Amino acid sequence: MRKDCKKYFKRISEYLDGELDDRTCKEIEEHLQDCPECLECINSLKKSIRLCKEAGNEEMPADTRERLRSTLRDCFNHKSK
Ligand SMILES: [Zn+2]
Repeated sequence: MRKDCKKYFKRISEYLDGELDDRTCKEIEEHLQDCPECLECINSLKKSIRLCKEAGNEEMPADTRERLRSTLRDCFNHKSK
């Protein structure tokens, strides 16, 4: 994991939840543009979220959210090895 990635890690789950302000979203998106590892990770998470919504869940169940967060964590931990 790059040093930069660590900085963004905590915010990415908020980013995926759509809880961040525009400025912070933009910072993350800029990071994604030059970090293929984070981008790949986020794309797979986004896909899970989309599948969940398509399945008819307006609100993501708490356990799904928790699973996404641990996927995110694993993803970053793996990159750091
Ligand atoms: Zn990164």
